[in-house]
Amino acid sequence: MSFDPYDFRLQFPALARDDLIYLDNAATTHKPTAVLEAMAQFYRQDNANVHRGAHRLSARATRAFEGARHTLARFLNAPASEEVIFTRGTTESMNLLANSLGQMVLDEGALVLVDAWAHHATIVPWQQAAARTGATLKPIPLDSKGRLDEVAFAELLALGPQVVVLTAISNALGARAPVDRWLPKAQAAGAITVVDGAQAVAHEPVDLQALGCDFYAFSGHKMYGPTGIGVLWGRRDLLDAMPPYQFGGEMIQSVSFERSSFNVLPFKFEAGTPAIAEAIGLGAAANWLMAQDRRAIAAHEQALLSYARERLQSLEGLTLYSAFEDNAGSLAFNVDGEHHQDVGIWLDQAGIAVRCGHHCCQPLMSLLGVRGTCRLSIAGYNHHDEIDALVAALTDYLEFLYDDA
Ligand code: PMP
Repeated sequence: MSFDPYDFRLQFPALARDDLIYLDNAATTHKPTAVLEAMAQFYRQDNANVHRGAHRLSARATRAFEGARHTLARFLNAPASEEVIFTRGTTESMNLLANSLGQMVLDEGALVLVDAWAHHATIVPWQQAAARTGATLKPIPLDSKGRLDEVAFAELLALGPQVVVLTAISNALGARAPVDRWLPKAQAAGAITVVDGAQAVAHEPVDLQALGCDFYAFSGHKMYGPTGIGVLWGRRDLLDAMPPYQFGGEMIQSVSFERSSFNVLPFKFEAGTPAIAEAIGLGAAANWLMAQDRRAIAAHEQALLSYARERLQSLEGLTLYSAFEDNAGSLAFNVDGEHHQDVGIWLDQAGIAVRCGHHCCQPLMSLLGVRGTCRLSIAGYNHHDEIDALVAALTDYLEFLYDDA
């Protein structure tokens, strides 16, 4: 295998520094030159508002913006690009769904299932939708090993949920939900299925037609693209039937003071001037990722994460959470008896960026019996020396603790 993380890294200007080991990629990844250039070029050469413009600059901007949508449809192997809705990110995708789909399918006695490691961006919008409609939200619990509980899932499905939301890869743990096996079960139980792919898109190719879910949400900034842009993909028949989420320009067909009618997909769900440069940047990220050897990047990341897991497991006084062989991207740990924030500050002083806290998963933290954790999260540009540096800094911390005692 010829993948070289040091070579790969050269494409990321923000990483051309030697005072930072960046292991916070689940929060956001750095951006390759291809993305930076695409956005800069839009502002330098094509800047104009999209759609409806009679002038040539607007036509160029529209072509670039809609081109990005086509690229994303290809990136996801979506059946049609009109099903690709641009949003601000996973959070807005989930709010759109919970509001619009929620209004359509939830009522008194309805049930929404979310997994135990769902992000607040999933839990809170659906909790609010449930409160508005009289529906109930229930979690799919963890089993004793720290995976999603298969038996409990089957029991919950027997209750006939209207909506099942699965987080493909947990941002707090790096653990995987068995989406391939569980989505058909949820659909067989009559549920509409939603996948939070925020942590999945950077680590593995997404094939929506093979996956077979009804909706898929993700953010651009976690897959080497810009912030402020993401996608909600949905099945056309459902999107067509759903009411608009926000109202204003672009999403209408005709407006009078008495009534308005709404545009076709995807515009029906894209009110107002969109994040044009960001969508173009996300298209560039998707194009760039498709041009990489994704299999080789995934193999490198898997080897690196296994290495990190083994090295961290060998440290006395450190607890790992749901750290499985097939984790993707992230590992969560605590130094026993220490506040996660103290560990984070120590690591920062050693020039190592990890994330410490509840990772927007407070209910999961309660289940784990902790207030928070430290999380290392990798991307293709990380390498073994960086894991060694992390382990060395943690070893120092543990020695410092025990010396003190
Ligand atoms: N879901 C998951 C699994 C995430 O990791 C994140 C970001 N941490 C979100 C949802 C929310 O994404 P964003 O903040 O980009 O909207």
